[in-house]
Amino acid sequence: RIQLPEKVSKIINCLTEAGYEAYAVGGCVRDTLLGRTPGDWDITTSAKPAEVKALFGRTIDTGILHGTVTVMLGKEGFEVTTYRIDGEYEDARHPKNVVYTANLLEDLKRRDFTINAMAYNDAEGLIDVFDGIADLKKGVIRCVGDPMDRFGEDALRMLRAVRFAAQLGFSIEEKTRGAIISLAPNLSRISAERIQTELVKLLVSAHPEEMRTVYETGISKVILPEFDAMMEEEQRNPHHCYTVGEHTIHAMCAIRPDKVLRLTMLFHDVAKPVCRTVDEKGIYHYHGHPAKGAQMAHAIFRRLKFDCDTMDRVCRLITWHDDNPPLDEASVRKAVHRAGIEQYPALFLVKRADILAKSKAGQKEKLAYVDAYERMYEEIRRRGDCLTLKELAVSGKDLIGAGIKPGKQIGEILNALLALVLEDPQKNTKEYLMSYTLKNLFI
Ligand code: ATP
Ligand code: MG
Repeated sequence: RIQLPEKVSKIINCLTEAGYEAYAVGGCVRDTLLGRTPGDWDITTSAKPAEVKALFGRTIDTGILHGTVTVMLGKEGFEVTTYRIDGEYEDARHPKNVVYTANLLEDLKRRDFTINAMAYNDAEGLIDVFDGIADLKKGVIRCVGDPMDRFGEDALRMLRAVRFAAQLGFSIEEKTRGAIISLAPNLSRISAERIQTELVKLLVSAHPEEMRTVYETGISKVILPEFDAMMEEEQRNPHHCYTVGEHTIHAMCAIRPDKVLRLTMLFHDVAKPVCRTVDEKGIYHYHGHPAKGAQMAHAIFRRLKFDCDTMDRVCRLITWHDDNPPLDEASVRKAVHRAGIEQYPALFLVKRADILAKSKAGQKEKLAYVDAYERMYEEIRRRGDCLTLKELAVSGKDLIGAGIKPGKQIGEILNALLALVLEDPQKNTKEYLMSYTLKNLFI
């Protein structure tokens, strides 16, 4: 027996009292059976969208073309979707047309995995025609029906299989895995947005190491070839005991499941395979890979249609992840200014994860350095030292007021003053900076 939230019961009862069938279905049933809290509760019903809308006061046509109406109860919305059979699939992407059905079984058949194809209501209990419960117990991701057919219909399901394995700590059933290996090339036809959604869910899951499966099944070769290059890059260097790809996986596991942080770890060394030289002893040396890595990550983010904010934050963290200032306060202030104050304290998390994912040799010292760096950073923040143009005691307006003509020179003067203040925060007074400007900078 599943304890449905009150509002979900209310919607189901309202539909059944009107003579329709209705069940909680999919992810919410799966998660509840696993003792996890579902993200959202989806309802499947024999009622057509117009019939659903007629029964409830406030509804939103979320995906009316696919039969989905959001029913609003208070501030909460619940997606109510009409039983449907997906029509023939066009190019492994979109069902050509959506056909409604009066039969729950038909609706469950179109779902991707057995654990996602269970329905429940209080009157009928659990409907589990594909042995989803057995697969939940075994910890297995298995397609509903023939995996070759199901992945042929919608190639995204292959990436979803790995995503669910990563979220739940499950393994992928053998035939399902075999079909992924055969059909992974079809992922090239899936839109960037759909791939991005599943990839992010995988990365912020409990098992980002499933990126290994993404590689082994040939999925990354299609959607993220840069990752294949990392997996195939040996690091012949005493500081590293793994390939770049394995180091990357360890680094993701060593950081909190946050989208920006996990993406940063995924791409922090993305440029290593293209920034390498080999010395006469056969040792590899990497030069300038953080800057190049940020550039490559930028291109990947564009390709996968990520939002600018995520792209920007990740690229900055990549650029500065290996910036290690000497531990005097002036150098630390300059480093904070270089990377941008918004990158802190995330940058410390990134640095620690990077160190933890490398060979144990020298690890203690490197972690002690980051600790000391962070303490110094905190002291600087506590004191409120000026670190940005915004905090400078003198503004562009002040300079113009003193007779300097508006234009490029204003910016140059402000930057010169900031450099002075980063060196010595005592100098951040209007009086000092104005007289310094007039004496030294205003030519
Ligand atoms: P999450 O907790 O991430 O929301 P979920 O199982 O609810 O997990 P959704 O992507 O929200 O996943 O999809 C809801 C349900 O719709 C799934 O449980 C599955 O039954 C079905 N489904 C979603 N996408 C597909 C697909 N591409 N092919 C077949 N069925 C799908
Ligand atoms: Mg869902």
